[in-house]
Amino acid sequence: MRLSVDHGRCDGCSLCELICSLRRTRSFNPSRSAIRVLKRESRGIYIPIISPFTGLLLDPEGKPILCDLCGGNPKCAEVCPNEAIRVVED
Ligand code: SF4
Ligand code: SF4
Repeated sequence: MRLSVDHGRCDGCSLCELICSLRRTRSFNPSRSAIRVLKRESRGIYIPIISPFTGLLLDPEGKPILCDLCGGNPKCAEVCPNEAIRVVED
């Protein structure tokens, strides 16, 4: 299983970041999420980065954050309202 990201569908709502951090840390803290949405609001561009698959993210202490695909049930894909994140079965 892997995740496929379609940047063109992302509207920057941040739900994926929130649900990921909630699952990982039991708090709404996107700085500890394994997915981060880069926002270029002036250009209307939003780019979800999933660590380590599409870029490596670090937590505030500088440690790598690694997506574990939620143990087989990716929550970010589940909550994304625009199907910008999809589960692909290999
Ligand atoms: S699959 Fe789970 S751990 Fe990976 S980025 Fe999505 S919510 Fe976070
Ligand atoms: S939940 Fe979907 S639309 Fe919202 S920021 Fe994440 S990838 Fe983009």
